[in-house]
Amino acid sequence: MAFSRRTLVAGAAGSPIAALLAACGANQQTAAPSSISSPASGAATAFPATSHMAKIMQRGKLIAGVKQDQPLFGMLNPRTNAIEGFDVDVVKEITKALFNTKDDPFPSKLELRGVTSAQRIPLLQEAAVDIIAATMTVTDERKQQIDFSDTYYMAGQSLLVKKESTITKIQDLDKADKTVCSATGSTSEQNITKFAPAAQKLLFAGYAECLTAIQQGRADALSTDDIILAGYLDTDPTLKMVGGQFTQEPYGLGIAKASTGFQEFVNNELRKMKTDGRWKAIYTKWLGMTGPTPEPPK
Ligand code: GLU
Repeated sequence: MAFSRRTLVAGAAGSPIAALLAACGANQQTAAPSSISSPASGAATAFPATSHMAKIMQRGKLIAGVKQDQPLFGMLNPRTNAIEGFDVDVVKEITKALFNTKDDPFPSKLELRGVTSAQRIPLLQEAAVDIIAATMTVTDERKQQIDFSDTYYMAGQSLLVKKESTITKIQDLDKADKTVCSATGSTSEQNITKFAPAAQKLLFAGYAECLTAIQQGRADALSTDDIILAGYLDTDPTLKMVGGQFTQEPYGLGIAKASTGFQEFVNNELRKMKTDGRWKAIYTKWLGMTGPTPEPPK
């Protein structure tokens, strides 16, 4: 598989953005405003100055939790020291809309923090990050703890095994002498228990460690979302992906509960990205090597 590195359409073309009120200035010396205007949809929506949305605007920076060890979605580029991928580009578009800029918002308006699967919900709950863009599946269980945006990508769980492996499906791993590797705090881990309860589980903070485990023969398979596996497969031709999609994993952006207006703002921008070509441009840039660019998820 070869990467397609077509350049993302710059400048968030076609997204109408209203100017922010001067009251949002980070260095405001005067008394705090009682409400702050959002640029969402070009309509001035007021938020209480104490709201989370207002906090982001006053800070002058969005803090996003992203993966840094998953090619295609969130991967630290050691040459540039920047984290890159589909999730990063989605969060950059949200940041551009928030701060009414067409320029790359990183690093002046966007701070990226590397997170593991298990850290995503706690970091939102502790308000250490404003948003999580980290291959996170929307589930009812997680919705008890945090809010999610609309779906922005539809993945499904699959298996990565050595090329010479005879495993073809998740049920082949449902034996006490089989070891399946995955990440702590992921739906992948829960799904292994559900679909292959007899298998031994080898759990790490991230999937990159699992890759090493398969290569060293300490695991028979790495199981997580197919698109994450596709990223690793691209780096190791001694592996193959098998078993199809045995679950559905709709990705949503994680937001803390009671972030007044922020979820609505994010959804509004996602809707625009899905219709004005930016979603497809991001897809083609990062995932184009997996096949034709589909329609965005509803
Ligand atoms: N999408 C799954 C999840 O949210 C697996 C991928 C991941 O751990 O980031 O748990």
